[in-house]
Amino acid sequence: MAAAPSVLYLLILFTIISAPLSSSSTPPTTCIIGSGMAGASVAHFLRKYSHTGPIHIFERNDVVGGRMATVTIGGNTFEAGASILHPKNYHAVNFSKMLNLKVKSDDPDESVSLGIWNGSEFVFKTIEYDSRFSWIRSILGFVNSVRMLVRYGVSLFKMSRFVEVTVDSFLKYYQTLESRPVFGTVEEMLKWVGLYNLTTRTLNEELIDAGLSSILIKELATVITRINYGQSVSISGLAGAVSLAGSGGGLWAIEGGNWQMAAGLINHSDVALHMSEEIKSISYVGGAYELNSRKGNSYKCDVTVVATPLDELHISFNPKISIPDRKLQHTHATFIRGLWNPAYFGFNHVSDIPELVGTIESSDLPFTCISILKKHSEKDMTYKMFSRQAMTDVLLDQIFSVRNKTIRIDWGAYPLYHSPEQFAPFILDGIHLYYVNAFENAASTMETSAVAAENIARLIISRSSIEPPSISSNYATSASIRSDLHSDL
Ligand SMILES: Cc1cc2nc3c(=O)[nH]c(=O)nc-3n(C[C@H](O)[C@H](O)[C@H](O)COP(=O)(O)OP(=O)(O)OC[C@H]3O[C@@H](n4cnc5c(N)ncnc54)[C@H](O)[C@@H]3O)c2cc1C
Repeated sequence: MAAAPSVLYLLILFTIISAPLSSSSTPPTTCIIGSGMAGASVAHFLRKYSHTGPIHIFERNDVVGGRMATVTIGGNTFEAGASILHPKNYHAVNFSKMLNLKVKSDDPDESVSLGIWNGSEFVFKTIEYDSRFSWIRSILGFVNSVRMLVRYGVSLFKMSRFVEVTVDSFLKYYQTLESRPVFGTVEEMLKWVGLYNLTTRTLNEELIDAGLSSILIKELATVITRINYGQSVSISGLAGAVSLAGSGGGLWAIEGGNWQMAAGLINHSDVALHMSEEIKSISYVGGAYELNSRKGNSYKCDVTVVATPLDELHISFNPKISIPDRKLQHTHATFIRGLWNPAYFGFNHVSDIPELVGTIESSDLPFTCISILKKHSEKDMTYKMFSRQAMTDVLLDQIFSVRNKTIRIDWGAYPLYHSPEQFAPFILDGIHLYYVNAFENAASTMETSAVAAENIARLIISRSSIEPPSISSNYATSASIRSDLHSDL
């Protein structure tokens, strides 16, 4: 986990300044575009590690959190975007403790039945065990493990090992500041923890080399990458490993919505937050950045941080910047209150359908997964469905026999992963224009955004003449979450 920086370390940083911001001793003004996990974390770490000057965050929407957002359907609130955190997502763990956020974890006694659908039948299905007797749950849990083992054999353990090794390497990013360099590029950052090579090959290649059977790769691994990244096992090995890690035990989330991490960090970091303020241009003029918004406002900043993927944005840069072409995978999240149609899956009873329907890779399949979010009664449930294309009413009416409410969200969700990956620079112009989401080509999660943001904050400090912090920088104002920072999608 990240420890507090020692004064000595920051003094060293102070002496290796490579690009002083200005000759004056006024602390620099930092402007951050985007109020998601990345933008909020940059603000947090800048305050934590330095005596920086004013920080402005610009958010085009009227809520903070970006891809951490909730949706309310039939009076219940659910995660609409980023929903689960890994137990070793230590920045998120620390944020939730610091902000006194209530955490909800997986109930080990609560089972979710899984079915792997190929478009005409379930090729694999676990048994649902919704019993109040723990001995029944234990026996059926055991039966499910045996079924898994029979179908996938020792490949299951090989997959766990592959994930474990990757997660262990990632943990180096939480080493003390003294033992951890500041990284100027994504490549350097990944090489330092030994994860770069995983971005040069596909998950499929990595899993074959790890000795996994083709049936596990085609079914279980594919189901997971389709759920987490809407893509097949041809994504890079690193994005794939991160995706597989998100299917393990001990997963957790913030009660009431993960967006509260961003809101809390922003609240906590003495930030001027400009909501509904979309930045349309960034120009470097006379030693500073001029940011212009669609509303016609202009801001002067010594440092500018882009904390959002640039791929589908229309921000003009002067001078122009150059980053590799990157496409985003769109994930259509469809929320339905109603009841699914057992006939669609070849069953007579709703209770025969697994609570989580995953899918294999096939061009015929109109969705990547469907899960039950809440059972209100045997005939009334809330479902979340992910698909690569928008779900039409005609299709939904085949899958659901009752549909009282439907909400659709089209996310520019995460990069379309390739191998070998190409990374945009962290420093876009060689001066003080930074890009956190260059790291998203490695993997896209709330935690990887925070990890990249921490490095960007350190990079800014190491390249500018910001004073080192006092031993404990007490910038906190309040840990309460402002309710006006959020409303549902
Ligand atoms: C459907 C879905 C499911 C996911 N599931 C998980 C999960 O379970 N676990 C997990 O860890 N991750 C998950 N992710 C990924 C995770 O949401 C992201 O990796 C992470 O939240 C990215 O945070 P960010 O701050 O980098 O970007 P964003 O959250 O996208 O924030 C960028 C912000 O910048 C704002 N912005 C953009 N342009 C401008 C502009 N010109 N001016 C001002 N503001 C601007 C945007 O409105 C946005 O608020 C999921 C993502 C999706 C879409």
